[in-house]
Amino acid sequence: MIDIKTIAEKDRLSVLHPFTQLREFASGKIGDPTVVTGGQGIRIQDAEGRSYIDGFAGLYCVNIGYGRTEVAEAIARQAYNLAYYHTYAAHTTEELATLSDRLVRMAPGKPSKVFYGMSGSDANETQAKLVWYYNNLRGHPKRKKIISRERGYHGCSVISGSMTGMSFYHDHMDLPFPGILHTGTPHHYWGAEPGETEEAFSRRRAAELEELIVREGPETVGAFIAEPVLGTGGITPPPAGYWREIQDVLKRYDVLLIADEVICGFGRTGADFGSTLYGMEPDLVTVAKGLTSGYVPLSGAIVGEKVYSVMEEAADRVGAFSHGYTYSGHPIAAAAANAVIDIFEKERLSDRARTVGAHFHKQLKQKFAQLEIVGEVRGVGLLGAIEFVADRQTKRRFDPELKVGARISKAARDRGLIARAMPHGDILGFAPPLVLSEAEVDEIVDLAYRATKQVMDELAREHAL
Ligand code: PMP
Repeated sequence: MIDIKTIAEKDRLSVLHPFTQLREFASGKIGDPTVVTGGQGIRIQDAEGRSYIDGFAGLYCVNIGYGRTEVAEAIARQAYNLAYYHTYAAHTTEELATLSDRLVRMAPGKPSKVFYGMSGSDANETQAKLVWYYNNLRGHPKRKKIISRERGYHGCSVISGSMTGMSFYHDHMDLPFPGILHTGTPHHYWGAEPGETEEAFSRRRAAELEELIVREGPETVGAFIAEPVLGTGGITPPPAGYWREIQDVLKRYDVLLIADEVICGFGRTGADFGSTLYGMEPDLVTVAKGLTSGYVPLSGAIVGEKVYSVMEEAADRVGAFSHGYTYSGHPIAAAAANAVIDIFEKERLSDRARTVGAHFHKQLKQKFAQLEIVGEVRGVGLLGAIEFVADRQTKRRFDPELKVGARISKAARDRGLIARAMPHGDILGFAPPLVLSEAEVDEIVDLAYRATKQVMDELAREHAL
């Protein structure tokens, strides 16, 4: 029997938790940590015996669901056989070579090589260094600036955290790093002028990007990094025409495109990669999360031919590629990724995300679109979000003090559904495992609906509605 109190106490005294108000946690004001003990399919259990539908697949990562023994066995096999060796100075393993061959065949753009890390953040850190390296080697030493988007999320290390376009990732931590710039969010609902079509809005966002490049000096701009579908910034699919317009600008000024596929990659949007869905042709591609479905940490910076060919050509002059982690290409992670991609292919999870996703969006719209506090229901594949507002007509937001999004998320959790309250407004986000059934979609939508109604009733009682 698990002693929950002892675990909670040890944790409280010794773990520095990400995204937790430290004082409220230390004082017990926000209660004990949830001790998660198991997971099966789309559900997790806690130490008190409660079961939750994980409507967020951990952090958008457990695409194949929990408890897949095929992956556990692949991990164990590799651990018994060879738990570790490095990939420096041209060492490899069979699992790593197999995985890399698969990734180079399946990734969008014109992939040439894969560099491995352990997290989305470090992979984007690598992407920045590759942009700088490439431009130095090809004789453009001033082309160093990297542009990302307000509300884009790319990680929380020094450069990836700077790319992340959310001020609370920067405040008190001396970010953003100089040379990392931000352009406007492609969210039509909030950003468009009255009557502006999605196409016109996309053109305006592309024109703003062009203005920024011209203002900074095109000879100083190295790359643009973006998620095909904006994730943590609000689960926002791009407005119509957005990627065509943006890529036109990037081509005009010889600016590289880095597609951050950390969430979108491996089926989440209903296509193998978000880039494919939106006709993006990236020069560099970042993958993590779905690559191993979170079973072990692994990320990849996939380098396109254009960048790689310059690197190889310069090698006699500059020497070895001097970048690498102890755990780059870890054999256990590679074995896990191969087992996950086997499942991804065998169970056609992209197709599944598309068809089950279509059902999901239909249900979400049917139940939520007419509710008086719902401003927008949006998403693609198995990514979805509901944005709550105090007034649908004027799009007036709720008083942030009311914490409407967080309350709905909490009410859903109390009913056994994990759906995430997202920053920048009152947003309930969904990113369930891709293996869920239509009946499970109905269960999620129903639980979210009942949680929303409960909070609406509470708000009415508090005269906040
Ligand atoms: N890029 C994107 C698009 C992400 O969603 C995330 C994580 N949510 C990251 C990068 C960073 O990944 P990690 O947390 O593994 O560093």
